Amino acid sequence: MGKDRYHIVVIPGDGIGPEVVEAALHALSPLAERFDYEYVRAGLAYYNETGKPYPEDFLDRLRSADAVLKGPLATPVGPHGYRSINVYMRQELDLYANLRPCRGYPRVSPKVFDMVIVRENTEDLYVGIEGVFRDHAYAMKIVTRQGSERIIRFAFEYAVKTMRRKVTVVHKANILKLSDGMFLGIFRELSKNYSGIEADELIVDAAAYNIVRSPEKLDVIVTLNMYGDILSDLVAGLAGSLGLCGSGQYGANIAVFEPVHGTGFDIAGKGIANPIAAIHAARLMLEYLATTFNDKELNTAAKALDKAIYKTLTEDHILTRDLGGHYTTMDVARNIARRFTAELKRI
Ligand code: ATP
Repeated sequence: MGKDRYHIVVIPGDGIGPEVVEAALHALSPLAERFDYEYVRAGLAYYNETGKPYPEDFLDRLRSADAVLKGPLATPVGPHGYRSINVYMRQELDLYANLRPCRGYPRVSPKVFDMVIVRENTEDLYVGIEGVFRDHAYAMKIVTRQGSERIIRFAFEYAVKTMRRKVTVVHKANILKLSDGMFLGIFRELSKNYSGIEADELIVDAAAYNIVRSPEKLDVIVTLNMYGDILSDLVAGLAGSLGLCGSGQYGANIAVFEPVHGTGFDIAGKGIANPIAAIHAARLMLEYLATTFNDKELNTAAKALDKAIYKTLTEDHILTRDLGGHYTTMDVARNIARRFTAELKRI
């Protein structure tokens, strides 16, 4: 089953984006005959050239793809400014689930762990409803039954598919009894459908403490938008670098994969950015295509790529500067491609 070739839209992005995306495509080179890449430009450099943040047919081109692989995009403050392209994509494509797996590697990271944060991506305080009444400012936190159900189901389904053992809901229902309380209630209801997966609960402040103290005890976390935003950067910090964690944003018929880090303009153009986050994003893309198109070969390939990354870091010690090494972006990508080829032959 599966398709012979997949149509992938590639958005190189700004700052270190083009470098890490090129490295990710190089890491995927052992599978090159399975993909047709269509490059779509957007972001600051594109804006400076054309006066527009993205091409007219931007969303149509994304929707036509089997998956999207993107680098970070800057939000330029132009004369007229424009809203963040990331927020625009999230809203227009209804990318409701933000999956952020992050791993701490032995001999590389401050802590060794393997955690996945599933963050609700469209609701909570991010709906942007704020106001001021005399000297009272307020912001609305919106939590819907439908939005909660789909993200919690997504987390459990992901846990089943990737053979994880536990899903922990992170909330503040002791204070926010109606909004977070509803999220927690739905988690408790839905968890009954997944008897093979342990269901656990943590209040967000205790979650922060537990993640820092013993990250190895956590597995999959499902949480509301703002807690997920904060905790996923905390987890990247524990891993040792923003350059280590990839992410996927999922809608009903589309998914966008990217590194969790931003544009890193301070190191752009030097060839020293850590490409692992972008390569993990590419790995998540393989997992997604494998599930969506029932493609067993890509499922195996996703696992092989994960091993190649692991061995490059922990055995070969091919590390970029952010991890204390001296290797370049492409040194890492070439080593991972070599390891990936070897892993694919082994299977
Ligand atoms: P943005 O405004 O797009 O969020 P930023 O530079 O403010 O960009 P990040 O890109 O997240 O924020 O970077 C924070 C710091 O981490 C910067 O010093 C950057 O150089 C470093 N960094 C980010 N990504 C990487 C990477 N892949 N490899 C090495 N260092 C990185």
